[in-house]
Amino acid sequence: QVVTRFAPSPTGFLHIGGARTALFNWLYAKKHGGQMMLRIEDTDRERSTQAAIEAIIDGLQWLGLEWDGDIVYQSARAARHAEVAEELLAQGHAYRCYATAQELEEMREKAKAEKRPWRYDGRWRDRDPSEAPAAAPYVVRIKAPQDGETIVDDAVQGRVVFQNKDLDDFILLRSDGAPTYMLAVVVDDHDMGVTQIIRGDDHLTNAARQTHIYQAMGWTVPAFAHIPLIHGPDGAKLSKRHGALGVDAYRAMGYLPAALRNYLVRLGWSQGDKEFFTTPEMVESFDLAQVHRSPARFDFAKLENMNGHYLRDSDDDALLDLLVATLPYLEGGGAIAQALDDRTRAQLRAALPGLKARAKTLNELLDGAGFLFAQRPLSLDAKAAQLLSADARARLAALVEKLAALPNWTAAATEAVVRDLATALGVKLGDLAQPLRAALTGRATSPGIFDVLEILGREESLARISDQAA
Ligand code: GLU
Repeated sequence: QVVTRFAPSPTGFLHIGGARTALFNWLYAKKHGGQMMLRIEDTDRERSTQAAIEAIIDGLQWLGLEWDGDIVYQSARAARHAEVAEELLAQGHAYRCYATAQELEEMREKAKAEKRPWRYDGRWRDRDPSEAPAAAPYVVRIKAPQDGETIVDDAVQGRVVFQNKDLDDFILLRSDGAPTYMLAVVVDDHDMGVTQIIRGDDHLTNAARQTHIYQAMGWTVPAFAHIPLIHGPDGAKLSKRHGALGVDAYRAMGYLPAALRNYLVRLGWSQGDKEFFTTPEMVESFDLAQVHRSPARFDFAKLENMNGHYLRDSDDDALLDLLVATLPYLEGGGAIAQALDDRTRAQLRAALPGLKARAKTLNELLDGAGFLFAQRPLSLDAKAAQLLSADARARLAALVEKLAALPNWTAAATEAVVRDLATALGVKLGDLAQPLRAALTGRATSPGIFDVLEILGREESLARISDQAA
């Protein structure tokens, strides 16, 4: 039984790189008929607010990456972590270290002077416990192997060899008895039955250290896959200056979860040059062996194009549901959510095919839908105002009369009227249709103008045209 896990530390949002890590874990579990667990690494009590935890849960749910079983909160397991530390002490695989802050500082200074990375020198490793100062604070350190090498057989990085002399006796329990990340992760992964760890390659060295704990406890070491971090377009580690880092920001910009999933899976993983993957296709094809070893670069324009593609391909009913559900997060969406009633909802649904053809994000789509919710008299943008010359307004006056006489208000019927009138007036279709568009939408661009007429309906359309006619 394959068990993976996503183990984020709550920082206030679900990081886009974390979302990709979660996706890879989710795909791997699904592909192998296994489970993906969620563990919240909330041992830093100050940063781990309820809001920060909820942001992760919310982000995963929005992306459709449901975990299996109950969420494991690392902070709730401190007693178990301490128990394992005690066991390591009892077995002689760990020891109490009484080195003072000043001694550690001296070790650091010495390493600096000798221009080598600082490492705890193991001064309490072989001392007899009877030499311990009475009632002095101590930390518990692992008794790590000092010779030989530790090998991390990594599904992405290959066989990575660490010299044990470069790894020190790291801390398991702090002087206040709190477990370190290193201990907590191993104990939790073991107890949760994790078989495959997939995480960022900033944890690669930790994998060697964690291996020492597994070995000391006689536990099976899980398989590792350390995936390269995401970089910005300029090749530097992805940061705020490149663009949004939180998944919530992508929702607010109007990205579809399916599009973001597809974009993220391709970020550092590929199968030939196939770009588009449905979720079942992703599950089917995902393979750690095809995860790239070098960092992927985040390409914002590509994500936008992919989103546009997903928008155009969406089923209109499903898209409407998604749009309505996303309104509270979108720019100007709150007002539209309020204005939404059965009539405007039906209008929005009817306008979707035309709107989605012109939009790359839900925000753009919503912006294009603004005319549905606009109040008369419409405010005109600069280009619309320019289209409404005195001549154009006179044409609109003629058009109102013709349209008002129509027995059936359909796109086809209104189109015939507009075309006939353009011919009768000896003007090009655009000379009538563009001012008409400006009058109906306040813009110079919109979905097909005859569809707009049909969607707005006779009464509203005639009123809007009359407002601009002279
Ligand atoms: N909580 C760690 C992080 O957010 C991940 C630990 C792990 O995956 O082992 O970077």
